[in-house]
Amino acid sequence: MYDKVCEISPRIVKLKALESRMPTSNSRKMEVLTEYNNWLKGYLGEKSLEFYLDPLIRSKDYHIFHEIRLLSGNYYFQIDFLILCNKFALALEVKKRSPDWFFDGFNQAFLLFDGEKEEIQNPVAQVKLQSRKLKHWLEEHQCEEVPIHYLFVNSHEKSKILYEDGNEQIKNICNSEALIDKIDQIDKFYKEEKLTKQAVRKIKRLLLSKHTPDDPDILKEFNLTPKDLLPGVQCPKCNSLSMKYHYGVWTCPHCKEKSKTAHIKALEDYFLLIKSSITNSQLRYFLQIDSIKSANNILKSLNLPYSGKLKGRVYHRPTTPITTIQLVKEVSLTLQSGK
Ligand SMILES: [Zn+2]
Repeated sequence: MYDKVCEISPRIVKLKALESRMPTSNSRKMEVLTEYNNWLKGYLGEKSLEFYLDPLIRSKDYHIFHEIRLLSGNYYFQIDFLILCNKFALALEVKKRSPDWFFDGFNQAFLLFDGEKEEIQNPVAQVKLQSRKLKHWLEEHQCEEVPIHYLFVNSHEKSKILYEDGNEQIKNICNSEALIDKIDQIDKFYKEEKLTKQAVRKIKRLLLSKHTPDDPDILKEFNLTPKDLLPGVQCPKCNSLSMKYHYGVWTCPHCKEKSKTAHIKALEDYFLLIKSSITNSQLRYFLQIDSIKSANNILKSLNLPYSGKLKGRVYHRPTTPITTIQLVKEVSLTLQSGK
């Protein structure tokens, strides 16, 4: 069963928001876009593994954690998928890369391009290191000892794994399709349980309570400031950032699309990229509206938590994203009206 489901990380959401608000004239825009595409590809590779992990996801005997990130010493380490049962733990590093992989006799990893090979960071060495860190982490937290296995999973259907004689890492590599067989082999290897139910519960509780999501200050990472961002409300149809507000309705001057809720995405971008609170005047600048009253109406309609009085009032980012709150509100209104 999933104890931590496979979700898009805050980093990916922030990169997407940042890219959509950078002018094409900014030389770092391409860098942001490349970074976004890489992280998204990684996520899609991980998400595609759900299909192969399904028997385990439906079993109560296995606990599955997607992207668990823990602090060990001064550094965080993150595991794409961690599988825990009463016999062993298994760390997975998942990559969806093409073309083919090549692992040589010296345990180095390469990607092969038309006969050329490019050396890259070895994913087996990476996941091996993560499993060691996990071992130390469990010791630090006085957990019962459990054997920890590790695997690099190639989740790209078309890319092949090639290796040279003498490579010792090949036993820790598999394609998505073979993953369940690999897990069965590990399972059969252990005749006895290593962890009691209580010990499994303790590890599970610790992992979830100590998990720290990768939620970066994305402007800082790219050496940008709020001044580098384009303000405005984005048209949901043509993506232009120039929607105009008039009597509760946003209209796109380019494609004439109308929306009553287009400001929600803009406000979420503000919270994701700039800071987790906003004043009336900051909202007016970011949404590019002049009227204090309209800005007030918008803020009130979103039921945001706030502090301070009158002009000094500051509205805060809700713990649940506004789009979710808005959806719940719309659904409950529909239910009330019996539609
Ligand atoms: Zn438009």
